Order: sequence, then C-alpha cells, then structure tokens
Amino acid sequence: MSASPSEPAPTRPVPRPGVMDAPLYVPGTHKAGDDAVPPAILSANENPIGCSPKAVEAYRAAADQLNRYPEGGSVDLRAAIGETTGLDPERIVCGAGSDELITLLVRAYAGPGDEVLHSRHGFLMYAISAQTVGATPVAAPEPDLRTDADQLLAHVTPKTKIVFVANPNNPTGSWSPESELLRLRAGLPAHVLLVLDSAYAEYVREPGYGDGRALVDAGENVVMLRTFSKIYGLAALRLGWAYAPASILEALNRLRSPFNVNAAAQAAGVAAVRDQDFVERAVADNAEQLRRMTQSLTQLGLEVPPSVCNFTLAGFKDAETAQAANRFLLARGVIPRMVAAYGLPRYLRISIGTKEEVTRCLDALADFLKREG
Ligand SMILES: *Cc1c(COP(=O)(O)O)cnc(C)c1O
Repeated sequence: MSASPSEPAPTRPVPRPGVMDAPLYVPGTHKAGDDAVPPAILSANENPIGCSPKAVEAYRAAADQLNRYPEGGSVDLRAAIGETTGLDPERIVCGAGSDELITLLVRAYAGPGDEVLHSRHGFLMYAISAQTVGATPVAAPEPDLRTDADQLLAHVTPKTKIVFVANPNNPTGSWSPESELLRLRAGLPAHVLLVLDSAYAEYVREPGYGDGRALVDAGENVVMLRTFSKIYGLAALRLGWAYAPASILEALNRLRSPFNVNAAAQAAGVAAVRDQDFVERAVADNAEQLRRMTQSLTQLGLEVPPSVCNFTLAGFKDAETAQAANRFLLARGVIPRMVAAYGLPRYLRISIGTKEEVTRCLDALADFLKREG
C-alpha cells in the first residue's frame, strides 16, 4: 500500500473528504409541545388541504402489489407529467423528491476543489449537497432578498461547476422574471450547469414568470426541477422530477438507484398530476390566505417581504424578538420555521395554512406583540 509510513492507518473507516463537513439538514418541526390540541403546522410549506383524493385512492390500490418491484423508469408517471405539462416524457427523470435530484446533480457535476454557486438566502440543500461531495458552496449576495443575476455572475470563477437558483426562492418567497434568468444563463460559460429549482412554480401566476422549460430547451446546460411535495400535497411520498437535456439525463440515470421512486409514489403521482382541478383549488385557497396573512402581518407592524409562494417571511426588529415570537407561537400550538440557518435571523418563515390555521397564527402573533409592547 502507498500510505505514508509516518501516518498511522485510521482506526476506523473514514468518510470521503467533505462528508463530515456538511451540516445536517434540520427539517421544520411538526411538534409544538405536548400538542393536546393538534398544532397548526406552518413549518414545512406543505399543502394544508392535503392532496387529491384520487392520489389517495391510487396509493391505497398500490398496497395490493407490495411484493412487486416498481417499474424502474417511472414510465407511466413521466407520461402523465407529459400529458399535463406538454413536455416530452423522454426528457424527464423522476426522483425520490427533488432533494434526491439535487444530490444527484451535485454528485454528477461537482467534486473536491469545485465551487457550487447559490444566492445568499437560497435553499439550504444546495450548499449541503455541495459539501457532501467535497465541493465549496459559494453564496452570492441577495440584495433586498431577491436573487440577483449580476451578483451571481460576478461570483462565477473558473472553479464554478453548478449554479442553483430556486425560482421562486424558499425562504424569501421572491421570484425572478424569465428575462433575468435568460440574462444569467447568457453570462454563464457553456460548461457551467444552471439548475432552476421551480418547486413553487404552480403558485406563480405573475406575467413574466417562466418555470424554466424554455431555458432547458434552448441549450445543454440547464435543468428544471419540480416537486410533488408542495402544491400536490404528496410530501410524505418523496416525489420530484427533472426536465433536462439528454446528456444530463444520461448522467442522472446512471447515478440514480434503479428503483429510486417507489411504486405507490408513482401511482399516486399519476393520479395527482391528472387532477388539475385539485391544483386550481389549492392555488386559489393559498392566494386568498396569503393575501390575508400578508395584510394582517403588515398591520401588526411586521416586515413582510412580498411572496408569491405558500409561505411568507415575517420580519421582527431583531433576532431575539424573532426567537421569542417562535417560542410564543409554539406555546400556542402554532409552528413556524426559524430561518437563521438561511442568514435570516430576524425573520420567521410561516407557511400558509387553512383559514383556521392562519387565524390561529395571527391571533397568537397579535398577543405576542401586545405583550412585547
Ligand atoms: C421544498 C423544496 C424542495 C424539496 O422538495 P422535495 O421534492 O420534497 O425534495 C426543493 N426545492 C425547494 C426550493 C423547496 O422549497
């Protein structure tokens, strides 16, 4: 063996460089305390009205075939996604949540010594995934809590391999027009992969927004990610997909495990994507409660950056107050999300719940602010 004689062999297996540097992703909690009354879970941007009843039915039916391996290529699901989106099923790959696809893209295109670029308040999984492969996450400033194409381009170096942009972004709730993304892509070297994470695309009805498909079609270095966890209300099943150029699909299909999406998730996904009535209902409910939440939080004197998603930020005067508000809400059975790990210690992120959940949250916050004086 070539190990240097001066270095004793480790006494136990040692993970590859980077693995132990990555922080653990801490998910939003679902428990407020003793939870005698069911809490209002506003911590994970889940769909508060559940999912399509047709998806539940398909999931139950899958229980009769648990002895069988899933179809490995998610063929029916990709076809159903194609039917409703107009995209070519041959250019889609499904994953166990878009989180899996983020991880696979990073494994495929970055390694030790490489840089993975994201914006300062971008989704945490980008930096975490980069670290696990020994790459260096680089955060570009995000003035006014908005992804800034010029800032991202200014931070591209010869080591940059991937740029991640969530559009709209979590946890800021802000979005970029397609024209900005086109500008970003035009400024990137052709070998740099641009990942457009459109996890909240279905919620966005603003003119000028694009989910990223046009950029995927226009070249070979853009991937669009989508998920069934948000508007479709299937977070428990772990289901996401990527729309990508053929060369990138080939890499992802080699790296993914052969049965990465389980059979029940595939079946439920097919039913869910065909039930666009459910999607429209969920979008309408969310828009109404988001408007209410935004108005009332603003009236309470909190800072509310504009959001087009199923969550909003609420800004307090300092980090201590945000922490105190978090504790107060938990004691009242309302569960927000602390976002200090995203560089936003003064803020709480609050998912848009049902009408009743939004009322509970607003009432509790009003009481908290009265107490604070
Ligand atoms: C929630 C979320 C995802 C994760 O989706 P899964 O499909 O559940 O893994 C990806 N990106 C962003 C920006 C998200 O907020």
